[in-house]
Amino acid sequence: MNPYSQFIETLRADIALMYNSDEHEMALLRGAHLTSVIRVTPPMMFANIGSGSCILLSFYPVIPTGLWVWFAALTLICALACWSWWHMRDKVLATASVRRLKGSTVHAAALAGTWAVMIVIWFPQAGALQQMTIATLVTGMLGAGGFVLSPLPMASLVYVGLYTLASVLALLACLVLRTEAHYLVIALLLMLYSPMTLIGALLSWRKSSDLIKAQRRAARQGEMLSVLLHDFELDAGDALWETDRDGMLNHVSPRLKELLRLQPDEHEHKRFLQILCERSPALCYLIDEHIEHRQSFRSLPISIEDEHGVRHLTLTGKVLLDEKDRFAGRRGIISDVTDKVNNERMLRTLAHTDSLTGLANRFKLRDTISGLVSRDIQLALLSVDLDRFKSVNDNHGHSTGDALLQVIGRRLTACAGENTLVARLGGDEFAIALWPISDDREPIALAQRVIDSLSEPIAVAEREFRIGASVGISLRMSAGPHMDDLMVQSDMALYESKAAGRGCWSLYSEKIGEQSRRRLAIEDGLRHAVERGEICVHWQPKVSLASWRITGAEALVRWTHPELGRVGPDEFIPIAEQCGLIENLGYYVLEEACRAATTELRGLLISVNVSAVQVQFGHFLQDLTALLEHYQLEPQRLELELTESVIIDDPDQALDMLTAIRQTGVRLALDDFGTGYSSLSYLRTFPFDTLKIDRSFITELLTRPDAQAIVRMISGLAITLNKRTVCEGVESAEQLDVIRALGCDEIQGYLISPPVALEDFPTALPECLSNVT
Ligand code: C2E
Ligand code: CA
Ligand code: CA
Repeated sequence: MNPYSQFIETLRADIALMYNSDEHEMALLRGAHLTSVIRVTPPMMFANIGSGSCILLSFYPVIPTGLWVWFAALTLICALACWSWWHMRDKVLATASVRRLKGSTVHAAALAGTWAVMIVIWFPQAGALQQMTIATLVTGMLGAGGFVLSPLPMASLVYVGLYTLASVLALLACLVLRTEAHYLVIALLLMLYSPMTLIGALLSWRKSSDLIKAQRRAARQGEMLSVLLHDFELDAGDALWETDRDGMLNHVSPRLKELLRLQPDEHEHKRFLQILCERSPALCYLIDEHIEHRQSFRSLPISIEDEHGVRHLTLTGKVLLDEKDRFAGRRGIISDVTDKVNNERMLRTLAHTDSLTGLANRFKLRDTISGLVSRDIQLALLSVDLDRFKSVNDNHGHSTGDALLQVIGRRLTACAGENTLVARLGGDEFAIALWPISDDREPIALAQRVIDSLSEPIAVAEREFRIGASVGISLRMSAGPHMDDLMVQSDMALYESKAAGRGCWSLYSEKIGEQSRRRLAIEDGLRHAVERGEICVHWQPKVSLASWRITGAEALVRWTHPELGRVGPDEFIPIAEQCGLIENLGYYVLEEACRAATTELRGLLISVNVSAVQVQFGHFLQDLTALLEHYQLEPQRLELELTESVIIDDPDQALDMLTAIRQTGVRLALDDFGTGYSSLSYLRTFPFDTLKIDRSFITELLTRPDAQAIVRMISGLAITLNKRTVCEGVESAEQLDVIRALGCDEIQGYLISPPVALEDFPTALPECLSNVT
């Protein structure tokens, strides 16, 4: 298809679309085109009647009656057109139907038809001057009408077509009637330029159609943009602003009004900056520099206070330049960040508060101390630990525990007074910072107040609890310890208080620091002691007084620390218990005992010390039976030595556990008997086979008569309850004689042998000590 026919084809298709399609888009296009034609109706009709009058005039004085009739018809058509325009004059046709468009084509055809009638009837018989008048008129009307009607291509086509047809017919009639060749020339000319007029009209239609469509698109985008902006302002809580080069606001949205609490006309006589500065003077100072240097700015804070409270906004803006790069104003966003600011503030408070007690938390305490340290203020730090909180929590539930902690928090605050910060560090740990101080009297007095206050009973959930507390104090009197040191030192002092029996305070000293460091070194070393082969077991024989034979051996663990040298079990076992390392260590000793029992120490009753913490580990019983099985050791050859601490914490659970152990056939001994809370009822209910009378009674046996009485009573009790007695720590023959007289079953002590390595384990006993005959 050549470009020309392609052009014709698309033009035809476009016209067909406009005259047939029901689409809304097309209806809008029709409406716009029709409106532009209707708008020129009055001048067009005026031109028609004027032209008609000129024709009448050109026939004057002999105006044919027919011509009058014709003029009347023309006037009627024009009047009808004006009448319908009059009704429409104020309306804008948004859309127009196909019918309406076709109606306009009919109207154009009627008008052109009326003129055609005049041309066909009166042109051939008219005189030369009249013909010239008509010809001029046709030329003008054809051109002008064709273009005026160009928005409606079919009307334009019909109009130009009818004019041309009538004119050509009239010219041909003249050619026939007057045989003048130039009529043919004129007809040819007419047939040449009327298509030109038509093409011009169609191109103009095309162009205006495109323009209308583009305007529609732009309008739609504009609508979309304003909807989006509106949504944006509603959703984001933000408002857009724009100022001109004088700093006056260009447009004030309702959101902006609301955010800045603008008075109705305020923005019309005040510059934007002035409005902002009146509301937030601090902003003036901030923004001045940016404004001066015509810089962009981002998130400048504005706080507006009014009867509704404080509203936090941020201001962001950039400079606008015109096409010649000159300053043309500013544009930006004001955001409402009130919620964000409030939330952040709340989070900050939460981050520094213990939610249960409302006291400060660890972060806040550290913050405060580091502030005081950096200002070199003399201060004291008290670490407070509750003595019997854990058992309340375990036995009465967490809600009781929580209520208790709240009461304790209030008591601590009441004790503390001014220039202090009371914090809960977690669990049952509290701390108090006290400043400024001049010596240790004030913190010591505070520590005593805390201990006194917390030793008073606390009533929660209709019960009374006696909790008690231990306190550790550290001081910073000169540019001495740093914050972390201070916290560590008060913890060390606290540990000292607990070790000293709780319910007391300790002030950190170098000695405490030294002990603490040793403790840490032990704890550290213990972690790898077993696997590094630093641990071994020594054995101490037990001797039966009845047969004067070695009947048993007690396993006692030994540790040689690479730096600290020999560390006694009295020191490291409690640490192992606290750090959860006892399980591993205990298992090692138990296994070694089972092994030795079936080899070197075959035939003896093997005693193993087991700590309360160790028994409470879930799989102790399983480990025990597995070891017995593995070494094929008869259970009655093994005896576990336990202290009363296993019973104290939870007697019911201990009874279950010990009964289960006893049921395997393994024997049980109550170690260090007489030192603890020994209750006779425990002795009856718990399945112990042996009572080991504590060394302290044996040591005092010769010096204190009551020690003898106690030992006599215990051995008597044991006989009644059908239990054996072992006296430990027998060092002299004199002690042995007394023990014999008091009726104990077995002895153990340096008199026979200290604990020794397996290879040194004694095989014979000194006969001189024997009174067995
Ligand atoms: P214990 O069970 O009362 O052990 C007896 C302690 O008295 C041992 O101290 C032993 O060496 C010491 N001893 C024995 N005869 C005499 C004597 O005639 N005079 C003096 N002055 N002392 C004597 P050791 O070995 O230092 O053990 C101390 C504690 O450590 C033990 O007290 C026991 O409670 C604990 N222990 C030792 N080994 C283990 C173990 O393997 N597991 C557990 N859980 N605890 C252990
Ligand atoms: Ca023991
Ligand atoms: Ca003992």
